[in-house]
Amino acid sequence: MADRSFLAWPFFEPRHRELADKLERWCAKLSEDNGDVDSQCRTLVAELGSAGFLKLCVADGDRRPDVRSLAIAREALAYRSGLADFAFAMQGLGSGAISLFGTIEQKRQWLPKVASGKAIAAFAMTEPGCGSDAANIQTSAMRDGDDWVLVGEKTLISNGGIADFYLTFARTGEGEGSRGLSAFVVPVDAPGLSVAERIEVIAPHPLARLTYDKVRIPADALIGAPGEGFRIGMETLNLFRVTVGAAALGFARRALDEAIAFASKRRLGTETLADNPVTQAKLADMALLVDSSALLVARAAWQQDIGGTDNRRAAAMAKLHATEAAQRVIDAAVQMHGGAGVTRGVKVEELYREIRALRIYEGASEVQRQIIARDLLKEHAR
Ligand SMILES: Cc1cc2nc3c(=O)[nH]c(=O)nc-3n(C[C@H](O)[C@H](O)[C@H](O)COP(=O)(O)OP(=O)(O)OC[C@H]3O[C@@H](n4cnc5c(N)ncnc54)[C@H](O)[C@@H]3O)c2cc1C
Repeated sequence: MADRSFLAWPFFEPRHRELADKLERWCAKLSEDNGDVDSQCRTLVAELGSAGFLKLCVADGDRRPDVRSLAIAREALAYRSGLADFAFAMQGLGSGAISLFGTIEQKRQWLPKVASGKAIAAFAMTEPGCGSDAANIQTSAMRDGDDWVLVGEKTLISNGGIADFYLTFARTGEGEGSRGLSAFVVPVDAPGLSVAERIEVIAPHPLARLTYDKVRIPADALIGAPGEGFRIGMETLNLFRVTVGAAALGFARRALDEAIAFASKRRLGTETLADNPVTQAKLADMALLVDSSALLVARAAWQQDIGGTDNRRAAAMAKLHATEAAQRVIDAAVQMHGGAGVTRGVKVEELYREIRALRIYEGASEVQRQIIARDLLKEHAR
C-alpha cells in the first residue's frame, strides 16, 4: 500500500483524507488491462463517473475544482493504473476552460455530462507546426453569419478518436500571436471534423491527429470573448499543472514500493539485495525524491486552493520536480530489478514507459524552468 502519511500534513483537510480512503477502496477493484485502450478508457470514464470521482474535475457553479482533491485522486489512480489516471485527468483538462470561463448555459450543457462520465472530453491545442509555442497556433476560426468555421489540424490530442467534444484553440485574428486566439467547444459530430490518424505512443493511450475541414459550429460554442483563447488555455493548463506532478508522484511511489518489495526478496549471495548498503543508499535517495515531490505538489495545490497568491512558480516547480524526480526513481527501480525490470508485464517496466511523456506534455520541463526563472527575475526587478 502507498505511503499516505502526507495526508496528515497541514495542507490537507479531513475531506481529503476521506477522499483518499474512498479512492483506495475503488482502486482495489479496478480490472486489469485488456489491451484495447479505447474500450478501457470508455469504461474507466463511465466507472469514475458513476463512483462520483469525476465531479472533482469540474466547477461546482462558480467554485473551481479543488486542486488538492485532484492531486490526491491523480496520485492514487496513477499508483494503480496509468490509464485510470489518464481517463480521470482528461475529463478535467478537456472541460477546464468551460469550468473556468464558460457561461451558465455552457456549464449546464457540458459539465454534468463530463462529471457523470456520459461525455468524454479532450483538449485540442497542439498542432503539427507548434506545441510548446502555443502562441503560434495556425488553425483558423472565421465568423460566417451566426456560425464560426474552423480550418486546420491538431495533433497528439489525448482522447482523440473517443472524445465527445474537443476544446479547440484557433486563431480569430484580434491581434498578433497570443492576442489573436479564441477557444471553442467542438462536438464530435460537427460536420468537417475527422480523425486523420491514430497515434501510438510508448504508454498506450487514445491519441490522434484531427482535421478541421470547414468545421461549422454555432456562435455559442465560443468560450469567453474572441481573443481570450490564449489566456483561457494557459489558465486551464496552470490549474491542472500541479496535478501532472501528482500523477508523477503516484508513479514514483509505486516504483519505490516495487523496488523495496523486490529487493527484500531477491537473493544476493547469502543475503538479500535489500541487505546490501548500495541498495539501501539507492532506496534512501528514491525516498528523498518522492518526499520532496510530495511537499512541492502539496504546497502548490494548497496555494491554488486558498487563492489570493500567484502560484505559477509553485505549480511549475511542482510539475518540474515531480516529473523529473519520478523518472529518476523509476529508472532506479528498473535498475534494481535487473533483467526483470525491462521485461514486459513487470510493473516497473510499465512505469518506465508511463512516466516519459509527463516531462513533455502540458509544458515541457524546459518551459517550466522558463516560467520559474522569469517569475524570479520579475520579482527581483520589483
Ligand atoms: C502522450 C502525449 C499526450 C498529449 N496530449 C495532448 C493533448 O491532449 N492536447 C494537446 O493539445 N497536446 C497534447 N500533447 C502535445 C504536447 O502538449 C506537446 O508535445 C508539447 O507541448 C511539446 O510540443 P512539441 O511536441 O511540439 O515539441 P516542441 O514544442 O517542438 O518542443 C520540442 C522540445 O524542445 C524543448 N523546448 C521546448 N520549448 C523550449 C523552450 N522554451 N526552451 C528550451 N527548450 C524548449 C523541449 O525539450 C521540448 O520537448 C500530448 C503529447 C504527448 C506526448
